[in-house]
Amino acid sequence: MTPETKEKLEYLNDTLGLSEKYYHACSVVSYDMETICPEKGMEAQGEILSLLDNEAFKLRKNEKFTEAAEFLYAHIDELEETDRILVKKLHRDYLKEKNLTPEKQMEFSLIYNKAFVDWTNARKNSNFEMFAGSLEAVDKAGKEMIALREPDPEDAPGMSVYDRMLNDYERGMTSPGLDATFERCKEVLVPLLKKIMASGKNIRRDFLNIEVTDEQQKRMADYLLGVMDFDFSRGAYTTSEHPFTDGLAKNDVRVTTHYYPTQFASSMYSIIHEGGHALFELLQPEEDFEHHIQSHKSLGMHESVSRFYENRIGRSRAFIHLIYPKVCEIFPQVMRAEDHCKKDPDMLASSTAKPGIKNVSEEELYLALNIVEPSLVRTEADEFTYTLHIIIRYEIEKEIVGGTLAIADIPKRWREKYREYLGIEPATDREGVLQDVHWTSGFGYFPTYSIGNMYNAMYYNRMKNEIDIDAAVGSGDFKTINGWMKDNVFAKANRLAPADWIKDITGRDFTPEDFLEYITEKFSRIYGI
Ligand SMILES: [Zn+2]
Repeated sequence: MTPETKEKLEYLNDTLGLSEKYYHACSVVSYDMETICPEKGMEAQGEILSLLDNEAFKLRKNEKFTEAAEFLYAHIDELEETDRILVKKLHRDYLKEKNLTPEKQMEFSLIYNKAFVDWTNARKNSNFEMFAGSLEAVDKAGKEMIALREPDPEDAPGMSVYDRMLNDYERGMTSPGLDATFERCKEVLVPLLKKIMASGKNIRRDFLNIEVTDEQQKRMADYLLGVMDFDFSRGAYTTSEHPFTDGLAKNDVRVTTHYYPTQFASSMYSIIHEGGHALFELLQPEEDFEHHIQSHKSLGMHESVSRFYENRIGRSRAFIHLIYPKVCEIFPQVMRAEDHCKKDPDMLASSTAKPGIKNVSEEELYLALNIVEPSLVRTEADEFTYTLHIIIRYEIEKEIVGGTLAIADIPKRWREKYREYLGIEPATDREGVLQDVHWTSGFGYFPTYSIGNMYNAMYYNRMKNEIDIDAAVGSGDFKTINGWMKDNVFAKANRLAPADWIKDITGRDFTPEDFLEYITEKFSRIYGI
């Protein structure tokens, strides 16, 4: 490496270190807005967020920085591998942002923040019209941003606007590819759902909506994160309207959950899901932070991990076997498990257990946590129907961006698709089109959620050949599970594009077939069809 290259690289690293501090501050403000910030404080917080974000943007937009990054791109052969990955990514970003002035950036940022505030109010009032103007502005801003971009020679020629949006979240993902994947999913899932609904299988569910306290749910969240070997000295959690995870810094990963008084299982699976995201952040290679590539992993990769813990592990028989005694201990009124309460008279006194009703067995708990039931709300959807919720959003947003669906007609299209794929439709906008926050910041994000299920089905099939997953989970040995994930799934996530990453882990090209096979086998067995 020449002295000039060395100097430029040092400058690059110092500047990125500083901009990461601004982003760290952004995350703190954003975490505050999502958790405890009072309603009337939101607007000012939103302005602070835009300001900090703009400062970080200016640092990277600085001529000296751009010049250094482009110099390094021209001298990429002199760099070591990790720095090459960084420099290539910076070059791609440079092409995207080259023509974006700080003023324009600020304008976009304000549009997205206003959209968030409008969506919050619209949702509260269950009135889509209150959000429609902002959604239109978001659509326009997204297209304007893409039109401003410098062409990237790495992109496929003639890429559509929507595919460019998809690529911001999952590089290499295309709508023709997704169309084929989702058509195949619909082909398998829609008729199978009808069979499940017609099976007449009666799964006990009388205990699922018994009231529990926030305190009990917090105890359960502590226990579950502990089981997953979550490092409480480097991570924390609280509650928010919508659960999420934010990796603020190397040693600070924040998770949230939501306590519904009459849905004890909801917060359990939120915490496992977000805990999975957190493990990914906490167990990625340390040197990725030193080289500023720690956020290169795609959203599809991230969702594959959270859903691996939530569904493949969390809803397995082995996991239910592991947690069953603790569920009985923490939620005695749910499990009506007098046997578990005998040792603790206080617990029995607080239980609403009625004599004559039998305790919930381990098998009954397993079945109840795997009930398939078409529902209106994506975040509460079961493992089986979840993909259909995503397909609906994908098809609608593709139409919005393509200009074939007027903003005002979205609620109607939403209802039509729910009726077609899931056999139900929402009575209100709140439980329909306004349920998700994602469209306040643009389009192209949703498909990553379902791609994740397909990635993890592929790597699960390799993992099971190397370790006894059920034995490890059943005995609470998450060190083995997490260790395998760290070595195989997390290790190269920041270094490879999604298609290369999944091929590196599994030796195979991306396919939805592992997922469809798993889901068909599991639910056919549960429903006896
Ligand atoms: Zn997630």
